[in-house]
Amino acid sequence: MTDPRTVARAYLEQQRLLGGDPVVREDTGAAAASPPPAAAPVTPPGPPLPPPGTSWEPPASSDLFTADPVREATSLEVLAGLVAACTRCRLCESRTHTVPGEGPPDARLLVVGEGPGRTEDETGRPFVGQAGDLLTKILAAIGLPRDRVYICNVVKCRPPENRVPQFDEIAACVPYLFRQIDLVRPKVILAMGGTAAQTMLHSKQSLGAMRNQVHRFRGIPVIVTYHPAALLRNPNWKKPTWDDVRIARRLLDD
Ligand code: SF4
Repeated sequence: MTDPRTVARAYLEQQRLLGGDPVVREDTGAAAASPPPAAAPVTPPGPPLPPPGTSWEPPASSDLFTADPVREATSLEVLAGLVAACTRCRLCESRTHTVPGEGPPDARLLVVGEGPGRTEDETGRPFVGQAGDLLTKILAAIGLPRDRVYICNVVKCRPPENRVPQFDEIAACVPYLFRQIDLVRPKVILAMGGTAAQTMLHSKQSLGAMRNQVHRFRGIPVIVTYHPAALLRNPNWKKPTWDDVRIARRLLDD
């Protein structure tokens, strides 16, 4: 996309989609007909960095005598193979496909959601369907093509009727997520939704209380924001989400 007018149009559409401040052109007549600036910014400057929040370092297993294939998985492919065969919790009983996650192994941003929904279960891919399309647009709004981001969930199998994963299901599945993070070693983690945020930060706080802080997981900055599925239900959350993802973008650029 090299035409400046196309870039400007895309930027304004992203602003509109994510609830950004309205852009009003005050010029009229001949001035209004003049061409747009040569290079409209695709990624506007981010807000100031918020204060530090929770820092969590989950302990490594202390069992030196039992081999743990998850902890010892040497690649994301090996990990996906373990997930495909996993029966550690009851969610294996109703799944069609496991949804381990996808993205480049050296991604700088890692997005974590809650768990697969119906379309994800059918396809084996995370964040597809309407919520996935919105995530793709959110990432584009901060100048990140989706295929440069690692995208995964807390649980890798669909909870029946899209219910929230239960505590024991999360506990059984979370070693996969932690190993994914160890392997990708992203610069920033974006936790989307309350389940992802509480899991990443080992916290029971509400999503609202965890927003607008720079948390840390094993030293990696974690930004908490709304899940795209929640944004589809409540468009009022688009503006705060826009603020959050710009903070993530700023941390990526630092
Ligand atoms: S949700 Fe996770 S722990 Fe449970 S069966 Fe699926 S992969 Fe295994």
